[in-house]
Amino acid sequence: MSVVSGFSRTQVGIVGAGPAGLLLGHLLHLNGIDSVIVENRDREYVIDRVRAGVLEQGTVDLMRAMGVGGGLDRRGLRHEGVHISFGGRRHRIDFAELTGGKAITVYGQNEVVRDLIDARIETTRPLYFNAQDVRVSALDSPMPVIRFRHEGVEHDVQCDFIAGCDGFHGVCRPSIPEGLLTIYERTYPFGWLGILAEAAPSSDELVYTHHDRGFALFSMRSPAITRLYLQVPPDESIERWSDEAIWEEMLTRMTTADGWKPNVGRIVQKSVTPMRSFVAAPMRHGRLFLAGDAAHIVPPTGAKGMNLAASDVLVLAHALKAFYETASEEWLECYSTVCLRRVWKAQRFSWWMTTLLHQLPGESRFDRQRQLADLDYLTNSRAAMLSLAEQYVGLPSEVLFTSVGLQPRLPDPSPG
Ligand SMILES: Cc1cc2nc3c(=O)[nH]c(=O)nc-3n(C[C@H](O)[C@H](O)[C@H](O)COP(=O)(O)OP(=O)(O)OC[C@H]3O[C@@H](n4cnc5c(N)ncnc54)[C@H](O)[C@@H]3O)c2cc1C
Repeated sequence: MSVVSGFSRTQVGIVGAGPAGLLLGHLLHLNGIDSVIVENRDREYVIDRVRAGVLEQGTVDLMRAMGVGGGLDRRGLRHEGVHISFGGRRHRIDFAELTGGKAITVYGQNEVVRDLIDARIETTRPLYFNAQDVRVSALDSPMPVIRFRHEGVEHDVQCDFIAGCDGFHGVCRPSIPEGLLTIYERTYPFGWLGILAEAAPSSDELVYTHHDRGFALFSMRSPAITRLYLQVPPDESIERWSDEAIWEEMLTRMTTADGWKPNVGRIVQKSVTPMRSFVAAPMRHGRLFLAGDAAHIVPPTGAKGMNLAASDVLVLAHALKAFYETASEEWLECYSTVCLRRVWKAQRFSWWMTTLLHQLPGESRFDRQRQLADLDYLTNSRAAMLSLAEQYVGLPSEVLFTSVGLQPRLPDPSPG
């Protein structure tokens, strides 16, 4: 039962302690801007959730420049290329050579979130886990409010702005009055069955596989843990898949003519995720700004979800800094437009990767040959490889790091 009421005041109220909310909180902290972060799950749940794991070059550079890149420099796996496998052969695309030295880093989202929570706690700024009944109101007034219950106390946090970083199923987007958002959506007729296995990765880089039985992806989380995915029907029940059946299908789809295949090990986590493209526009209503999955979802084929969350909040931090320093609302006004340009390019890239590599139910022989011709072109044209490489490692940032008071930093050389 709630017994006390807690009123407080902050500059930016942040709903959600995923990558978007935590990165925004730290960027604001580095610029001397107050925030309160309100999360409805407990700390262990937020950290343990198995999700994304590929960081673009720009996300890595951002985390380093923010002083939260130590973990990823010590434990992240830098990949300078990727393999595309079809017709039983692997073809490597060399990111570093094509993009002038850029790469991706494999570092689990749970590690990113753990590092950011540690950094937040060190700042001593408020972060509430297990907040119940979180609501946002007065969004088009100069003082929007976040209300929630925490350990029996009702809280009212009056804010200058609210950042809705509460993911696809959060409360912020649905709090925007009906009719003000345009929703763009595509659901795909398949999902991904993903596993984590105790097996040393048998390739140093990701392998995307196009196969007659459906798409498969070889990835990893650490030198001891392999992460693998299979295309399955969208409503597939994970109970239908024994561990033996999963391994048989993985090996059937992924083994190449030269004998390469994933190492088999104990499966420690398995689940099925539906695939969807989604954009809600504009990403702002009054003094509420949506960021990350709260505003957009991409199918994971292009590994863009967590990276888009990072690029949104970099733009938002810049806009808020400009407001507090100069009272200018110019960047706040164009926040949504600036973010959506990148979001739509990421949507296009993720859709293209998805339709290039998956078996589409009901596809004709023509569709199949077109897909194979696309793969042939991709793996034999430098222009096509460069196009994939520059999008995969991440397009240039919309705002300079210096505009949020950050200087580029070199990797942390200390040993892990
Ligand atoms: C199952 C799954 C698998 C994925 N796999 C991949 C992948 O392999 N590769 C890839 O690139 N991307 C993947 N993604 C996408 C990627 O994880 C997201 O893009 C990324 O998490 C976005 O970060 P975010 O902070 O915007 O949202 P989230 O990480 O969803 O964080 C939102 C936070 O808000 C909290 N919240 C929700 N509702 C409320 C509320 N009412 N009040 C307070 N807090 C609330 C949530 O608990 C959560 O902590 C996956 C996503 C899912 C769901």
